[in-house]
Amino acid sequence: MRRAWRAIRNARCSSPVADTAVFGRSSAALRKAVAGEGCYLIDADGRRYLDGSGGAAVSCLGHSDEKVRAAVHAQLDQVAFAHTGFFTTDVTERLARKLVENAPEGITRVYPLSGGSEAVEAALKLARQFFLEKGEPQRRHIIARRQSYHGNTLGALAAGGNAWRRENYQPLLVQCHHIAPCYPYRDQQDGESAEEYGLRVANELEEKLVELGPDSVIAFIAEPVVGATAGALAPVPGYFKRIREICDTHGILLILDEVMCGMGRTGTLFACEQDGISPDIVTIAKGLGAGYASIGAMLCQEHIYRAIADGSGAFQHGHTYHGHPLAAAAANAVLERLIDDGLVAGVNAKGDRLVAALTDRLGQHPHVGDIRGRGLFRGIELVADRETKAVLDPSRKTHARVKKAAMENGLICYPAGGTIDGKHGDHILLAPPFIISDDQIDELTDKLARAIDTALTN
Ligand code: PMP
Repeated sequence: MRRAWRAIRNARCSSPVADTAVFGRSSAALRKAVAGEGCYLIDADGRRYLDGSGGAAVSCLGHSDEKVRAAVHAQLDQVAFAHTGFFTTDVTERLARKLVENAPEGITRVYPLSGGSEAVEAALKLARQFFLEKGEPQRRHIIARRQSYHGNTLGALAAGGNAWRRENYQPLLVQCHHIAPCYPYRDQQDGESAEEYGLRVANELEEKLVELGPDSVIAFIAEPVVGATAGALAPVPGYFKRIREICDTHGILLILDEVMCGMGRTGTLFACEQDGISPDIVTIAKGLGAGYASIGAMLCQEHIYRAIADGSGAFQHGHTYHGHPLAAAAANAVLERLIDDGLVAGVNAKGDRLVAALTDRLGQHPHVGDIRGRGLFRGIELVADRETKAVLDPSRKTHARVKKAAMENGLICYPAGGTIDGKHGDHILLAPPFIISDDQIDELTDKLARAIDTALTN
Protein backbone atom coordinates (compact mmCIF):
# COMPACT_ATOMS: atom_id res chain seq x y z
CA MET A 1 0.00 0.00 0.00
CA ARG A 2 2.84 2.39 0.93
CA ARG A 3 4.45 1.64 -2.43
CA ALA A 4 1.26 2.64 -4.23
CA TRP A 5 0.84 5.91 -2.36
CA ARG A 6 4.45 6.91 -2.94
CA ALA A 7 3.92 6.33 -6.66
CA ILE A 8 0.71 8.39 -6.69
CA ARG A 9 2.37 11.27 -4.84
CA ASN A 10 5.30 11.28 -7.25
CA ALA A 11 3.01 11.13 -10.27
CA ARG A 12 0.99 14.08 -9.02
CA CYS A 13 4.18 16.15 -8.91
CA SER A 14 5.01 15.26 -12.50
CA SER A 15 3.51 17.01 -15.51
CA PRO A 16 0.21 15.64 -16.90
CA VAL A 17 0.18 13.72 -20.17
CA ALA A 18 -0.88 16.40 -22.65
CA ASP A 19 1.47 15.84 -25.54
CA THR A 20 3.81 12.90 -25.70
CA ALA A 21 6.72 11.47 -27.62
CA VAL A 22 5.28 7.98 -27.12
CA PHE A 23 3.88 6.86 -30.45
CA GLY A 24 0.60 5.30 -29.43
CA ARG A 25 -3.04 6.05 -28.96
CA SER A 26 -4.08 9.60 -28.21
CA SER A 27 -2.60 10.03 -24.77
CA ALA A 28 -5.46 12.36 -23.83
CA ALA A 29 -7.67 9.27 -23.59
CA LEU A 30 -5.22 7.32 -21.45
CA ARG A 31 -4.94 7.32 -17.69
CA LYS A 32 -1.44 7.17 -16.30
CA ALA A 33 -0.81 3.94 -14.37
CA VAL A 34 1.48 4.53 -11.42
CA ALA A 35 1.09 1.45 -9.25
CA GLY A 36 -0.18 -2.10 -9.16
CA GLU A 37 -1.59 -3.86 -6.13
CA GLY A 38 -2.94 -7.40 -6.34
CA CYS A 39 -5.80 -7.42 -8.85
CA TYR A 40 -5.83 -3.62 -9.15
CA LEU A 41 -4.02 -0.99 -11.18
CA ILE A 42 -3.91 2.50 -9.71
CA ASP A 43 -3.75 5.73 -11.71
CA ALA A 44 -2.06 9.04 -10.96
CA ASP A 45 -5.23 10.35 -9.31
CA GLY A 46 -5.33 7.41 -6.93
CA ARG A 47 -8.27 5.75 -8.74
CA ARG A 48 -8.27 1.95 -8.56
CA TYR A 49 -9.17 -0.31 -11.49
CA LEU A 50 -10.03 -3.96 -10.95
CA ASP A 51 -8.19 -5.81 -13.69
CA GLY A 52 -10.92 -8.04 -15.10
CA SER A 53 -8.99 -8.96 -18.23
CA GLY A 54 -5.35 -9.02 -17.15
CA GLY A 55 -4.82 -6.35 -19.83
CA ALA A 56 -5.33 -8.84 -22.62
CA ALA A 57 -5.02 -12.11 -20.67
CA VAL A 58 -1.54 -11.25 -19.44
CA SER A 59 -1.59 -10.51 -15.70
CA CYS A 60 -2.45 -13.94 -14.32
CA LEU A 61 -0.73 -13.16 -10.99
CA GLY A 62 -2.02 -9.63 -10.52
CA HIS A 63 0.28 -6.64 -10.37
CA SER A 64 2.47 -7.01 -7.31
CA ASP A 65 3.55 -10.64 -7.02
CA GLU A 66 6.43 -10.76 -4.54
CA LYS A 67 8.03 -13.97 -5.76
CA VAL A 68 8.29 -12.76 -9.34
CA ARG A 69 9.54 -9.32 -8.37
CA ALA A 70 12.22 -10.86 -6.14
CA ALA A 71 13.32 -13.27 -8.89
CA VAL A 72 13.74 -10.43 -11.40
CA HIS A 73 15.71 -8.34 -8.89
CA ALA A 74 18.00 -11.27 -8.05
CA GLN A 75 18.68 -12.03 -11.72
CA LEU A 76 19.38 -8.38 -12.43
CA ASP A 77 22.06 -8.45 -9.76
CA GLN A 78 23.62 -11.56 -11.33
CA VAL A 79 23.55 -11.25 -15.10
CA ALA A 80 21.03 -9.23 -17.07
CA PHE A 81 21.93 -10.21 -20.62
CA ALA A 82 24.18 -12.68 -22.39
CA HIS A 83 23.75 -13.11 -26.13
CA THR A 84 22.52 -16.59 -27.08
CA GLY A 85 25.11 -16.72 -29.85
CA PHE A 86 27.76 -17.04 -27.13
CA PHE A 87 26.11 -18.23 -23.93
CA THR A 88 23.32 -20.07 -22.29
CA THR A 89 22.27 -19.32 -18.69
CA ASP A 90 20.97 -21.35 -15.76
CA VAL A 91 17.65 -19.52 -15.75
CA THR A 92 16.99 -20.14 -19.43
CA GLU A 93 17.90 -23.83 -19.11
CA ARG A 94 15.65 -24.13 -16.05
CA LEU A 95 12.77 -22.48 -17.89
CA ALA A 96 13.05 -24.89 -20.83
CA ARG A 97 13.18 -27.93 -18.50
CA LYS A 98 10.16 -26.80 -16.50
CA LEU A 99 8.11 -26.13 -19.62
CA VAL A 100 9.02 -29.49 -21.17
CA GLU A 101 8.17 -31.33 -17.92
CA ASN A 102 4.70 -29.80 -18.02
CA ALA A 103 4.09 -29.66 -21.77
CA PRO A 104 1.73 -31.79 -23.88
CA GLU A 105 3.01 -35.24 -24.80
CA GLY A 106 6.00 -35.36 -27.12
CA ILE A 107 7.03 -31.73 -26.70
CA THR A 108 10.74 -31.73 -25.86
CA ARG A 109 12.28 -28.46 -27.03
CA VAL A 110 11.72 -24.82 -26.12
CA TYR A 111 12.73 -21.73 -28.08
CA PRO A 112 12.30 -18.70 -25.79
CA LEU A 113 11.40 -15.39 -27.42
CA SER A 114 10.13 -11.97 -26.39
CA GLY A 115 6.40 -12.21 -27.08
CA GLY A 116 3.49 -13.79 -28.90
CA SER A 117 4.04 -12.55 -32.45
CA GLU A 118 7.69 -13.59 -32.30
CA ALA A 119 6.65 -17.04 -31.13
CA VAL A 120 4.18 -17.41 -34.01
CA GLU A 121 6.72 -16.18 -36.58
CA ALA A 122 9.22 -18.71 -35.26
CA ALA A 123 6.61 -21.49 -35.41
CA LEU A 124 5.73 -20.75 -39.04
CA LYS A 125 9.39 -20.61 -40.05
CA LEU A 126 10.28 -23.75 -38.12
CA ALA A 127 7.44 -25.61 -39.83
CA ARG A 128 8.69 -24.51 -43.26
CA GLN A 129 12.30 -25.43 -42.44
CA PHE A 130 11.19 -28.83 -41.16
CA PHE A 131 9.84 -29.71 -44.59
CA LEU A 132 12.93 -28.30 -46.33
CA GLU A 133 15.07 -30.62 -44.21
CA LYS A 134 12.82 -33.49 -45.26
CA GLY A 135 13.33 -32.65 -48.94
CA GLU A 136 9.83 -31.22 -49.50
CA PRO A 137 10.51 -27.64 -50.62
CA GLN A 138 7.24 -27.48 -52.58
CA ARG A 139 5.29 -27.06 -49.34
CA ARG A 140 4.34 -23.40 -48.95
CA HIS A 141 0.72 -23.00 -47.80
CA ILE A 142 -0.46 -22.23 -44.27
CA ILE A 143 -4.08 -22.86 -43.36
CA ALA A 144 -5.72 -20.98 -40.49
CA ARG A 145 -9.23 -19.98 -39.43
CA ARG A 146 -11.23 -16.88 -40.26
CA GLN A 147 -11.95 -16.08 -36.61
CA SER A 148 -8.38 -15.83 -35.36
CA TYR A 149 -5.57 -13.51 -34.36
CA HIS A 150 -1.97 -14.68 -34.31
CA GLY A 151 -0.04 -11.41 -33.96
CA ASN A 152 0.81 -8.19 -35.74
CA THR A 153 4.09 -9.01 -37.47
CA LEU A 154 3.65 -9.79 -41.16
CA GLY A 155 3.79 -13.59 -41.02
CA ALA A 156 1.53 -13.83 -37.98
CA LEU A 157 -0.81 -11.21 -39.44
CA ALA A 158 -1.06 -13.21 -42.66
CA ALA A 159 -2.05 -16.30 -40.71
CA GLY A 160 -4.69 -14.43 -38.71
CA GLY A 161 -8.18 -14.05 -40.10
CA ASN A 162 -9.09 -10.67 -38.69
CA ALA A 163 -10.09 -8.60 -41.75
CA TRP A 164 -9.71 -5.21 -40.09
CA ARG A 165 -6.16 -5.86 -38.87
CA ARG A 166 -5.11 -7.31 -42.26
CA GLU A 167 -6.72 -4.77 -44.57
CA ASN A 168 -3.99 -2.09 -44.82
CA TYR A 169 -1.15 -4.58 -45.17
CA GLN A 170 -2.74 -7.02 -47.59
CA PRO A 171 -0.14 -6.54 -50.35
CA LEU A 172 2.65 -7.43 -47.92
CA LEU A 173 1.09 -10.61 -46.55
CA VAL A 174 2.13 -14.09 -47.59
CA GLN A 175 -0.78 -16.09 -48.86
CA CYS A 176 -2.58 -18.03 -46.16
CA HIS A 177 -5.87 -19.85 -46.49
CA HIS A 178 -8.73 -19.63 -44.04
CA ILE A 179 -11.46 -22.06 -43.05
CA ALA A 180 -14.41 -21.67 -40.68
CA PRO A 181 -13.83 -21.37 -36.95
CA CYS A 182 -15.59 -23.64 -34.46
CA TYR A 183 -18.32 -21.22 -33.38
CA PRO A 184 -21.28 -23.23 -32.09
CA TYR A 185 -23.29 -20.26 -30.82
CA ARG A 186 -23.51 -18.91 -34.37
CA ASP A 187 -23.09 -21.90 -36.64
CA GLN A 188 -24.36 -25.10 -35.02
CA GLN A 189 -27.53 -26.00 -36.87
CA ASP A 190 -30.88 -27.06 -35.42
CA GLY A 191 -30.93 -30.80 -34.86
CA GLU A 192 -27.15 -31.07 -35.16
CA SER A 193 -25.33 -32.33 -32.03
CA ALA A 194 -22.22 -30.56 -30.79
CA GLU A 195 -20.10 -33.53 -31.92
CA GLU A 196 -21.68 -33.57 -35.40
CA TYR A 197 -21.14 -29.85 -35.69
CA GLY A 198 -17.49 -30.20 -34.60
CA LEU A 199 -16.85 -32.87 -37.23
CA ARG A 200 -18.54 -30.81 -39.94
CA VAL A 201 -16.37 -27.72 -39.36
CA ALA A 202 -13.19 -29.72 -38.73
CA ASN A 203 -13.74 -31.46 -42.07
CA GLU A 204 -13.41 -28.08 -43.77
CA LEU A 205 -9.68 -28.51 -43.16
CA GLU A 206 -9.68 -31.70 -45.18
CA GLU A 207 -11.65 -30.06 -47.98
CA LYS A 208 -9.14 -27.19 -48.09
CA LEU A 209 -6.23 -29.64 -48.10
CA VAL A 210 -7.69 -31.54 -51.01
CA GLU A 211 -8.31 -28.28 -52.87
CA LEU A 212 -4.71 -27.07 -52.38
CA GLY A 213 -3.09 -30.46 -52.70
CA PRO A 214 -1.89 -31.81 -49.32
CA ASP A 215 1.72 -32.01 -50.51
CA SER A 216 1.78 -28.24 -50.93
CA VAL A 217 0.67 -27.47 -47.36
CA ILE A 218 2.99 -26.85 -44.40
CA ALA A 219 0.69 -26.52 -41.43
CA PHE A 220 -2.66 -25.70 -39.91
CA ILE A 221 -2.57 -23.10 -37.13
CA ALA A 222 -5.34 -22.42 -34.61
CA GLU A 223 -5.95 -21.09 -31.12
CA PRO A 224 -7.49 -23.88 -29.02
CA VAL A 225 -9.72 -21.31 -27.33
CA VAL A 226 -10.05 -18.18 -29.50
CA GLY A 227 -9.30 -14.99 -27.59
CA ALA A 228 -9.11 -11.50 -29.03
CA THR A 229 -11.27 -11.99 -32.11
CA ALA A 230 -14.09 -13.93 -30.52
CA GLY A 231 -14.21 -13.62 -26.75
CA ALA A 232 -13.13 -16.99 -25.33
CA LEU A 233 -14.58 -19.22 -28.01
CA ALA A 234 -13.99 -22.82 -26.90
CA PRO A 235 -14.22 -25.75 -29.34
CA VAL A 236 -16.90 -28.42 -29.05
CA PRO A 237 -15.78 -31.88 -27.86
CA GLY A 238 -14.05 -33.87 -30.57
CA TYR A 239 -13.27 -30.91 -32.84
CA PHE A 240 -9.52 -30.86 -32.22
CA LYS A 241 -9.26 -34.67 -32.19
CA ARG A 242 -10.60 -34.62 -35.75
CA ILE A 243 -8.27 -31.74 -36.68
CA ARG A 244 -5.29 -33.72 -35.33
CA GLU A 245 -6.41 -36.78 -37.30
CA ILE A 246 -6.70 -34.80 -40.55
CA CYS A 247 -3.23 -33.27 -40.06
CA ASP A 248 -1.75 -36.74 -39.48
CA THR A 249 -3.57 -38.33 -42.40
CA HIS A 250 -2.30 -35.69 -44.81
CA GLY A 251 1.16 -35.26 -43.29
CA ILE A 252 0.89 -31.58 -42.33
CA LEU A 253 1.94 -30.03 -39.03
CA LEU A 254 -0.47 -28.82 -36.37
CA ILE A 255 0.55 -25.54 -34.74
CA LEU A 256 -1.48 -24.47 -31.72
CA ASP A 257 -1.31 -20.83 -30.73
CA GLU A 258 -1.70 -20.71 -26.96
CA VAL A 259 -0.28 -17.21 -26.63
CA MET A 260 -3.50 -16.07 -24.98
CA CYS A 261 -5.25 -19.22 -23.78
CA GLY A 262 -2.16 -21.05 -22.46
CA MET A 263 -0.37 -20.97 -19.11
CA GLY A 264 -3.32 -22.11 -17.02
CA ARG A 265 -5.83 -19.56 -18.25
CA THR A 266 -8.39 -22.24 -19.18
CA GLY A 267 -7.78 -24.46 -16.13
CA THR A 268 -4.88 -26.59 -17.43
CA LEU A 269 -1.37 -25.32 -18.12
CA PHE A 270 -1.90 -25.88 -21.85
CA ALA A 271 -5.45 -25.44 -23.13
CA CYS A 272 -5.12 -28.34 -25.60
CA GLU A 273 -4.77 -30.82 -22.71
CA GLN A 274 -8.55 -30.55 -22.38
CA ASP A 275 -9.03 -31.52 -26.00
CA GLY A 276 -6.90 -34.63 -25.59
CA ILE A 277 -4.40 -33.78 -28.31
CA SER A 278 -0.79 -32.74 -28.62
CA PRO A 279 0.40 -30.30 -31.30
CA ASP A 280 3.62 -30.53 -33.32
CA ILE A 281 4.41 -26.94 -32.38
CA VAL A 282 2.84 -24.74 -29.71
CA THR A 283 3.29 -21.04 -28.98
CA ILE A 284 2.90 -19.38 -25.58
CA ALA A 285 3.48 -15.86 -24.27
CA LYS A 286 1.21 -13.60 -22.25
CA GLY A 287 0.70 -15.57 -19.03
CA LEU A 288 4.28 -16.85 -19.16
CA GLY A 289 5.67 -13.46 -18.22
CA ALA A 290 2.43 -12.49 -16.45
CA GLY A 291 3.25 -8.87 -17.31
CA TYR A 292 6.50 -8.87 -15.32
CA ALA A 293 8.64 -9.53 -18.38
CA SER A 294 8.32 -9.53 -22.11
CA ILE A 295 8.58 -13.21 -22.95
CA GLY A 296 7.08 -15.82 -25.24
CA ALA A 297 8.18 -19.23 -26.41
CA MET A 298 7.81 -21.68 -29.24
CA LEU A 299 7.84 -25.35 -28.22
CA CYS A 300 8.10 -28.33 -30.55
CA GLN A 301 8.08 -32.10 -30.76
CA GLU A 302 11.36 -34.00 -30.80
CA HIS A 303 10.91 -35.22 -34.39
CA ILE A 304 10.83 -31.64 -35.64
CA TYR A 305 13.90 -30.67 -33.65
CA ARG A 306 15.69 -33.84 -34.83
CA ALA A 307 14.97 -33.20 -38.50
CA ILE A 308 16.84 -29.92 -38.18
CA ALA A 309 19.57 -31.02 -35.73
CA ASP A 310 20.39 -34.05 -37.89
CA GLY A 311 19.90 -32.09 -41.12
CA SER A 312 21.34 -28.63 -41.71
CA GLY A 313 22.10 -28.41 -38.00
CA ALA A 314 20.50 -25.09 -37.08
CA PHE A 315 17.15 -23.38 -37.11
CA GLN A 316 17.69 -20.41 -39.38
CA HIS A 317 16.20 -17.83 -37.06
CA GLY A 318 17.00 -15.66 -34.04
CA HIS A 319 16.44 -12.37 -32.29
CA THR A 320 18.89 -10.32 -30.21
CA TYR A 321 16.73 -10.69 -27.11
CA HIS A 322 15.61 -14.29 -27.42
CA GLY A 323 16.36 -16.31 -24.31
CA HIS A 324 16.78 -13.12 -22.28
CA PRO A 325 17.89 -14.08 -18.73
CA LEU A 326 15.81 -11.42 -16.95
CA ALA A 327 12.69 -12.54 -18.79
CA ALA A 328 13.50 -16.19 -18.10
CA ALA A 329 13.94 -15.43 -14.39
CA ALA A 330 10.52 -13.82 -14.31
CA ALA A 331 8.96 -16.75 -16.20
CA ASN A 332 10.54 -19.30 -13.85
CA ALA A 333 9.00 -17.56 -10.87
CA VAL A 334 5.67 -17.30 -12.70
CA LEU A 335 5.69 -21.05 -13.40
CA GLU A 336 6.51 -21.76 -9.76
CA ARG A 337 3.48 -19.72 -8.74
CA LEU A 338 1.26 -21.32 -11.38
CA ILE A 339 2.31 -24.93 -10.91
CA ASP A 340 4.07 -25.43 -7.56
CA ASP A 341 1.96 -22.95 -5.58
CA GLY A 342 -1.20 -24.45 -7.09
CA LEU A 343 -2.66 -21.39 -8.79
CA VAL A 344 -3.58 -23.25 -11.99
CA ALA A 345 -5.24 -25.95 -9.91
CA GLY A 346 -7.57 -23.28 -8.52
CA VAL A 347 -8.55 -21.76 -11.87
CA ASN A 348 -11.55 -23.99 -12.62
CA ALA A 349 -13.24 -23.36 -9.27
CA LYS A 350 -12.77 -19.62 -9.66
CA GLY A 351 -13.93 -19.83 -13.27
CA ASP A 352 -17.10 -21.64 -12.16
CA ARG A 353 -17.68 -18.94 -9.55
CA LEU A 354 -17.25 -16.24 -12.22
CA VAL A 355 -19.67 -17.95 -14.61
CA ALA A 356 -22.23 -18.39 -11.86
CA ALA A 357 -22.00 -14.67 -10.99
CA LEU A 358 -22.18 -13.63 -14.67
CA THR A 359 -25.13 -15.96 -15.33
CA ASP A 360 -26.94 -14.75 -12.24
CA ARG A 361 -26.49 -11.12 -13.19
CA LEU A 362 -26.53 -11.22 -17.00
CA GLY A 363 -27.97 -14.61 -17.98
CA GLN A 364 -31.42 -13.15 -18.75
CA HIS A 365 -30.19 -9.80 -20.01
CA PRO A 366 -32.01 -8.98 -23.29
CA HIS A 367 -28.70 -8.13 -25.01
CA VAL A 368 -26.49 -10.94 -23.70
CA GLY A 369 -26.57 -13.75 -26.26
CA ASP A 370 -23.86 -16.06 -24.98
CA ILE A 371 -21.64 -16.48 -21.92
CA ARG A 372 -18.81 -18.87 -22.79
CA GLY A 373 -15.24 -20.02 -22.33
CA ARG A 374 -13.19 -22.16 -19.98
CA GLY A 375 -11.57 -21.57 -16.60
CA LEU A 376 -10.79 -17.91 -16.06
CA PHE A 377 -11.01 -17.20 -19.78
CA ARG A 378 -14.58 -16.08 -20.38
CA GLY A 379 -16.46 -14.22 -23.07
CA ILE A 380 -19.82 -12.52 -23.35
CA GLU A 381 -21.39 -11.97 -26.76
CA LEU A 382 -23.73 -9.00 -26.98
CA VAL A 383 -26.66 -9.09 -29.42
CA ALA A 384 -29.58 -6.88 -30.47
CA ASP A 385 -32.02 -9.76 -29.99
CA ARG A 386 -31.50 -12.96 -28.01
CA GLU A 387 -34.02 -14.95 -30.03
CA THR A 388 -32.76 -14.13 -33.53
CA LYS A 389 -29.16 -13.52 -32.41
CA ALA A 390 -29.29 -10.37 -34.56
CA VAL A 391 -26.16 -8.33 -34.07
CA LEU A 392 -26.01 -4.86 -32.58
CA ASP A 393 -25.68 -1.97 -35.02
CA PRO A 394 -21.92 -1.98 -35.76
CA SER A 395 -21.84 1.79 -36.18
CA ARG A 396 -22.70 2.18 -32.47
CA LYS A 397 -19.42 0.48 -31.55
CA THR A 398 -20.99 -0.91 -28.40
CA HIS A 399 -17.77 -2.70 -27.46
CA ALA A 400 -15.91 0.62 -27.26
CA ARG A 401 -18.71 2.09 -25.15
CA VAL A 402 -18.50 -0.86 -22.74
CA LYS A 403 -14.76 -0.38 -22.37
CA LYS A 404 -15.18 3.33 -21.62
CA ALA A 405 -18.06 2.85 -19.18
CA ALA A 406 -16.20 0.04 -17.42
CA MET A 407 -13.10 2.20 -16.95
CA GLU A 408 -15.31 4.93 -15.52
CA ASN A 409 -16.66 2.33 -13.07
CA GLY A 410 -13.11 1.23 -12.15
CA LEU A 411 -13.02 -1.98 -14.17
CA ILE A 412 -10.64 -3.10 -16.90
CA CYS A 413 -12.26 -5.50 -19.38
CA TYR A 414 -11.42 -6.30 -23.00
CA PRO A 415 -14.34 -5.73 -25.35
CA ALA A 416 -13.99 -6.03 -29.12
CA GLY A 417 -16.10 -6.09 -32.24
CA GLY A 418 -15.62 -7.14 -35.82
CA THR A 419 -17.21 -8.65 -38.88
CA ILE A 420 -16.48 -12.28 -39.63
CA ASP A 421 -18.33 -14.18 -42.33
CA GLY A 422 -20.76 -11.28 -42.59
CA LYS A 423 -21.64 -11.49 -38.91
CA HIS A 424 -20.75 -8.75 -36.53
CA GLY A 425 -20.09 -9.71 -32.98
CA ASP A 426 -19.66 -7.33 -30.08
CA HIS A 427 -18.07 -9.33 -27.34
CA ILE A 428 -16.30 -8.80 -24.04
CA LEU A 429 -13.29 -10.86 -22.99
CA LEU A 430 -12.69 -11.50 -19.29
CA ALA A 431 -9.40 -12.92 -18.04
CA PRO A 432 -8.88 -11.87 -14.42
CA PRO A 433 -5.81 -12.75 -12.33
CA PHE A 434 -5.86 -16.26 -10.84
CA ILE A 435 -5.63 -14.66 -7.37
CA ILE A 436 -9.04 -12.99 -7.73
CA SER A 437 -11.19 -13.39 -4.61
CA ASP A 438 -14.92 -14.17 -4.48
CA ASP A 439 -15.65 -10.58 -3.44
CA GLN A 440 -13.64 -9.31 -6.38
CA ILE A 441 -15.54 -11.64 -8.74
CA ASP A 442 -18.74 -10.01 -7.47
CA GLU A 443 -17.23 -6.56 -7.90
CA LEU A 444 -16.18 -7.44 -11.46
CA THR A 445 -19.65 -8.74 -12.34
CA ASP A 446 -21.42 -5.77 -10.83
CA LYS A 447 -19.21 -3.18 -12.53
CA LEU A 448 -19.42 -5.00 -15.85
CA ALA A 449 -23.22 -5.30 -15.75
CA ARG A 450 -23.51 -1.59 -15.06
CA ALA A 451 -21.05 -0.78 -17.88
CA ILE A 452 -23.06 -2.90 -20.34
CA ASP A 453 -26.29 -1.09 -19.41
CA THR A 454 -24.60 2.31 -19.71
CA ALA A 455 -23.15 1.36 -23.11
CA LEU A 456 -26.49 0.16 -24.43
CA THR A 457 -28.58 3.07 -23.22
CA ASN A 458 -26.32 6.12 -23.83
N1 PMP B 1 -1.45 -14.99 -30.74
C1 PMP B 1 -2.55 -14.77 -30.00
C2 PMP B 1 -3.56 -15.87 -29.86
C3 PMP B 1 -2.73 -13.54 -29.37
O1 PMP B 1 -3.84 -13.34 -28.65
C4 PMP B 1 -1.74 -12.55 -29.49
C5 PMP B 1 -1.87 -11.21 -28.80
N2 PMP B 1 -3.12 -10.76 -28.53
C6 PMP B 1 -0.62 -12.81 -30.28
C7 PMP B 1 -0.49 -14.06 -30.88
C8 PMP B 1 0.48 -11.80 -30.45
O2 PMP B 1 1.16 -11.62 -29.26
P1 PMP B 1 2.02 -10.30 -28.98
O3 PMP B 1 1.05 -9.17 -28.89
O4 PMP B 1 2.72 -10.60 -27.68
O5 PMP B 1 2.97 -10.15 -30.10
